[in-house]
Amino acid sequence: MLFSQVIGHSDLKGRLIQKVAGKRTGHAMLLLGPEDSGALALGLGFARYVLCRDRGAEDACGKCPSCLKLDKLAHPDLHFFFPTAPNQEHKMNASSRLFMKSWREALLSNPYISWTDWLEQMGIENKQAIINTEDCNDIIRVLGMKSYESPYRIIFIYMLEKLYHAAAPKLLKVLEEPPGNTLFIMVSENKDRIINTILSRTHITRVPLPSEKDVYLGLKEKFGLDDKKAQQISFITGGSVTEALKLCRNDEDLLADFDTFREWMRACFKNDTGMILKWIENTVRSGRENQKAFFQYGLKIFRMCLYHNYNTTGLIRLEDEEREFIGKFAPFVNHRNILRIVEEFNQAIMHLERNANSRILFADLSFRLHALMHEKTS
Ligand SMILES: [Zn+2]
Repeated sequence: MLFSQVIGHSDLKGRLIQKVAGKRTGHAMLLLGPEDSGALALGLGFARYVLCRDRGAEDACGKCPSCLKLDKLAHPDLHFFFPTAPNQEHKMNASSRLFMKSWREALLSNPYISWTDWLEQMGIENKQAIINTEDCNDIIRVLGMKSYESPYRIIFIYMLEKLYHAAAPKLLKVLEEPPGNTLFIMVSENKDRIINTILSRTHITRVPLPSEKDVYLGLKEKFGLDDKKAQQISFITGGSVTEALKLCRNDEDLLADFDTFREWMRACFKNDTGMILKWIENTVRSGRENQKAFFQYGLKIFRMCLYHNYNTTGLIRLEDEEREFIGKFAPFVNHRNILRIVEEFNQAIMHLERNANSRILFADLSFRLHALMHEKTS
């Protein structure tokens, strides 16, 4: 992961680069940000920048022996630790060392993995995964050795909040008395769950969600999406890079477009059963992720209607045709029904996740929406 491959966060990248230049990295950096922020990807970019032999003013070189090893996440001075739990293959015990192959595969295919993705990758969906005592023993063992190639060695910890409390004293000890030339890069989503004594030994760098515009530009420039799809996806997912990339991997045409939504709302509004059923037949052909994204899109349109109703039009970035539709549609989305509409859509997303029958779900929702839209005039 090069900095240039990380979506958004240009300020943060600049700050991290300055820390390296000024030799002010500290020895324990905590990148703290929500799952969708890309804190993990940013941490990987930073590790590469620190280890690169020929780094430039803005990024690692991508070509030196160190960068080539990092292309495979196999640099002898970069040591990963992350939560694990026993699975089919490792039935009796688990540790980062045992799961290193899975970890590299997961990150190489997607540096924006979510916590759930990682649990799925290990095949332990329903178990608690932790950074355990064995991991902390390994950290101590690594720190007892010399670095191989780089002046620095990096201990990279993902999800510091999953550190098992009985293992914490071992990690605390090395954080309190760090050996020279060692940099801890730690990533966390929730600092409230980190043991206080550990937290107090770290320098926190907060990683916010990237802006919708950053995601849009990132999808276009870094992932080669065409303009329309990049706009659609960034609009639906806001700043969530993880969700945006999930939608990018979806090869189908995105349902979540304005024409599809307008057609459905018109059919619901008129309670035109023939039109509704025809619309449903076209819609259920696409996959579930796509259908979920469609509901997310719908939630955004409803929010725009509210903005319109409260005259906060400055918040709305819309094409003319969309603006016209929102203008006509907004009076039917109001303080009386909006909470229930939002609830219906959230329920629909949840039911799709639980493999509900899409035809029934869309049909049922269409008739409810009709009733909700007409409450105003009743
Ligand atoms: Zn390099």
